[in-house]
Amino acid sequence: MTANNETNSTQSSSTQTTSDTNHSLSIITTTEQLQGQFLRLQALSRTQPILDWATRETHLDNLEMMLSDNQKDIAQAISADFGYRSESETQFAELFPSFAGISHAKKNGKKWMRTRRVGISTLYMPAHNEIQPQPLGVIGIMVPWNYPLYLAIGPMIDALTAGNRIMIKMSEAAPQFAEAFAEAVAHYFSPDMVSVVLGEVDIAEAFSKLPFDHLLYTGSTEVGKKIMAAAAPNLTPVTLELGGKSPVIVLDDVNLEAAVNRVMMGKTLNAGQTCVAPDYVLIQRQHHQRFISLAKEWMQEHYPNIGDNPDYSHIINNQQFKRVQGYLDSLPAEGVHPLTDVESNVETRLMPPLIVTEPDPTSKLMQNEIFAPIVPLMHYETLDEAIDFINARPRPLALYVFGKNDHDIDQVRTRTVSGGVAINEVLLHLLQHDLPFGGVGDSGFGTYHGQAGFERLSHMKPVFVQAKVNGMNLLLPPYGALFKKGMALMLK
Ligand code: NAD
Repeated sequence: MTANNETNSTQSSSTQTTSDTNHSLSIITTTEQLQGQFLRLQALSRTQPILDWATRETHLDNLEMMLSDNQKDIAQAISADFGYRSESETQFAELFPSFAGISHAKKNGKKWMRTRRVGISTLYMPAHNEIQPQPLGVIGIMVPWNYPLYLAIGPMIDALTAGNRIMIKMSEAAPQFAEAFAEAVAHYFSPDMVSVVLGEVDIAEAFSKLPFDHLLYTGSTEVGKKIMAAAAPNLTPVTLELGGKSPVIVLDDVNLEAAVNRVMMGKTLNAGQTCVAPDYVLIQRQHHQRFISLAKEWMQEHYPNIGDNPDYSHIINNQQFKRVQGYLDSLPAEGVHPLTDVESNVETRLMPPLIVTEPDPTSKLMQNEIFAPIVPLMHYETLDEAIDFINARPRPLALYVFGKNDHDIDQVRTRTVSGGVAINEVLLHLLQHDLPFGGVGDSGFGTYHGQAGFERLSHMKPVFVQAKVNGMNLLLPPYGALFKKGMALMLK
């Protein structure tokens, strides 16, 4: 592995002891280290803020190099944590968006960080207004297990582009990847810039109580509430990237084959363990049987021999496997439709996809985020009914609509509120650099990616610059005729 210049220069001039110290600052495993390293980074952020583009660009280069040099190890570590994770999926859904995000930030970061003029009311002219982006300081990032690389790298890109220092807590549910990632970060970044925190929930709790300048958490809604409560005493601003049940509405004029193709892609990628995976499908009853047959054909074409198919990933751990199995066990058997001949295997945590027709809306399957390759088909009569079904539930992270009728599509997108929307597609809105990504209501708040992420992790400071000639002097007391004329204009 090739370390960055900053790390090289630190290491070449160091004794073994200093290098060990650096390592223990880069990789944090105890609450004592956590406190100490936070205070170090906080002090550095106040005395040596990262103001120039060249340094930020070097950090992005280092991130890129770290990924480039460790692609195989990363994919293997993630696969080991999942019991099996397709390397192609890791390339497609973790490495590719990470590289693309870095390259976009490198192309645009210099422009984003410029102080820019904004408008001013004629009353205050010839003064002018500016917005000056500034690094916030130390950013805390908390990562879930489902895409443990991209959900670490995505927020890191935004934090580094905005000139911040970072502490990042990896998920205890993906420990092999967490360790490999921490070692890679320690090699490519100075502990004056980034450190990685490993460990269980106790250290995660201590982490969430640190007075970061901003805390970006990705994970479940339940834990998200705890994070917000832990951040409140410090008034630490939080971005909560949470989960939820992302619906699909299939309109009656749909090209069903195209819709099934995209829904099944979204449900099988990472075995459905994707925050923006389609959770359930609202579709008129007359289409249910054809949906099931098309989904069976789709599985045959795209995942033949699923019991031994290298493209199909497994469920992360027993706890998650049993959670989903529990949802299925409580459903009437006649509504459960396997899409393959292969049964779930608790030992290997292989869970082939299946469809559930019209589960009770009060069932666990319909009350919780599924996060597995199970596709409930719900029935609606009128579009109003489908929209009401969604609006009666917590705001979803994503919403998908498939069909041709522009009026109906417009009805869906304007009368529902979700973190994001994709039309005749699933997932891909998340990969657009120019679209902010985030939730709303129970699916979280605060957006990131691209410029939105840069601004989220910067202080966008408003600055008023008075001109040499100060027009406001005309409004000083004693308030005479000129003042009264001015007020008459202003109070109209
Ligand atoms: P999780 O909430 O269990 O864990 C996420 C992080 O929280 C980990 O770093 C963990 O160490 C920490 N943590 C766990 N318990 C904690 C506690 N009591 N106090 C403080 N920190 C704690 O989430 P998960 O199961 O790892 O992830 C799955 C969820 O994440 C799903 O709901 C999914 O939809 C959501 N998700 C959302 C997005 C998004 O971008 N909106 C992306 C991926 C996953």
